[in-house]
Amino acid sequence: MICADTWRTVTGMAAICPNGHQLRPGHVLVGWSPCGCANCGNQPRGLRGHRTLQCLDCREQGEEMVRYNPPHIGGGHPNRA
Ligand SMILES: [Zn+2]
Ligand SMILES: [Zn+2]
Repeated sequence: MICADTWRTVTGMAAICPNGHQLRPGHVLVGWSPCGCANCGNQPRGLRGHRTLQCLDCREQGEEMVRYNPPHIGGGHPNRA
């Protein structure tokens, strides 16, 4: 459970998902996606990956809207934003 301020801190973006949902507490799911893309590969071992934030309002509507921080480079991560 995170608050909107946490989303803003993690993403550096507004606390609104790309589909316009207000990301209130309980409406966003935080995860981690190990990755070796250009944005991740220069991180220390064990930190190579993206913080992922999924909008649960979108998921309720059957849409996967997940943001990656740092942004992912290249293929392999569907529905990234
Ligand atoms: Zn949304
Ligand atoms: Zn990546």
